Amino acid sequence: MAEKDYYETLGVARDADDAAIKRAFRQMSKKYHPDINHEPGAEQKFKEINEAYQVLSDPQKRAAYDQYGSADGPQGFGGGQGFGGQGFGGQGFSSQGFGGFDDIFSQFFGGGGGGQAPNAPRQGADLQYRMDLTFTEAIFGKKTKISYDRDAVCHTCGGSGAKPGTSPVTCSKCHGSGYIQVQRNTPLGAMMSREVCDVCHGTGKEIKDKCVDCHGTGHQKERHTIDVTVPAGVEDGQQMRLREAGEAGQNGGPYGDLFIVFRVAESAKYKRDGSTIYLSLSISFAQAALGDAIKVDTVHGPVELKIPAGTQTDSKFRLRGKGAPRLQGAGTGDQIVTVTVKTPKSLNQKQKDALMAFAAASGEDVTPHEGSLFDKVRDAFKK
Ligand code: ZN
Ligand code: ZN
Repeated sequence: MAEKDYYETLGVARDADDAAIKRAFRQMSKKYHPDINHEPGAEQKFKEINEAYQVLSDPQKRAAYDQYGSADGPQGFGGGQGFGGQGFGGQGFSSQGFGGFDDIFSQFFGGGGGGQAPNAPRQGADLQYRMDLTFTEAIFGKKTKISYDRDAVCHTCGGSGAKPGTSPVTCSKCHGSGYIQVQRNTPLGAMMSREVCDVCHGTGKEIKDKCVDCHGTGHQKERHTIDVTVPAGVEDGQQMRLREAGEAGQNGGPYGDLFIVFRVAESAKYKRDGSTIYLSLSISFAQAALGDAIKVDTVHGPVELKIPAGTQTDSKFRLRGKGAPRLQGAGTGDQIVTVTVKTPKSLNQKQKDALMAFAAASGEDVTPHEGSLFDKVRDAFKK
């Protein structure tokens, strides 16, 4: 393996910093991941990328590799094994069920199941943030800043947990593997089992001189503030994922994600279902019978609606493009206006005369009751 050029494998310069290496690794491994790239040789390339990253992301191994052309240093520690074999490399991710491109990294770093070495990089925890939006904000989206507390990589030690100027050293008990072999005496005889190293707790590293700010954990609580662009057209209960805005990972693994869950306030005027907005409107009997052009409110401003002559109550009119933007796909939904023909509750003499004339013209013989509906109800209770 001495011939392998890990820098070339990841496509980074020899003096690339940790962030550049991590970035290159994420890009390359997405590109060559066997679930995505089915070209011949992609899987081999993917393994090489992992191997390169295992070495270059570890200051100790990287230093040894730079000096000796091998991550094991001149004589090696812990024999033939080391970084290439397991946890990252052969198993766990290739066989089964990734939900899709997005899930690869959470599976890769986080999930993985029992086969993962305790010193393998693991993605940090996901966080959830609830964001309240007004009815209109959800329709038009907005740019905003949010702040929340999270576990971040310690700014003092860069996550190593070691006092600045010092580095963690390879754990003397497990030689960096994070595992130890433990012999237990049982009624069936001595049994060997593999357990997480009790000295380094699986990290494979020992910190002699701890960073005073994080006490060796490599993590620090921080108030994190980010800019958020709420997309136009979100709905109540929907969520948005912000990559790596969650908590810091373990063993150099990436940050978890932040899920913003939207709570959208209701409107007193409109109802909304997806991209469709509903509005109820009352019109008079005369407008319904004769037709009219009326101004109707929409979230985009008032528009003119033509009510045709002879409109019945509960008729629906569609105002194209006056609804909410569609989150998936292009365009904007419609507004549906439902009209209710209102019957006047009290009439003056002139109106009564006009309606009597209308009834006569229609060939009806109407005998009006005196008093309003309210009067009749009241009278009914008096009896
Ligand atoms: Zn620290
Ligand atoms: Zn150890």
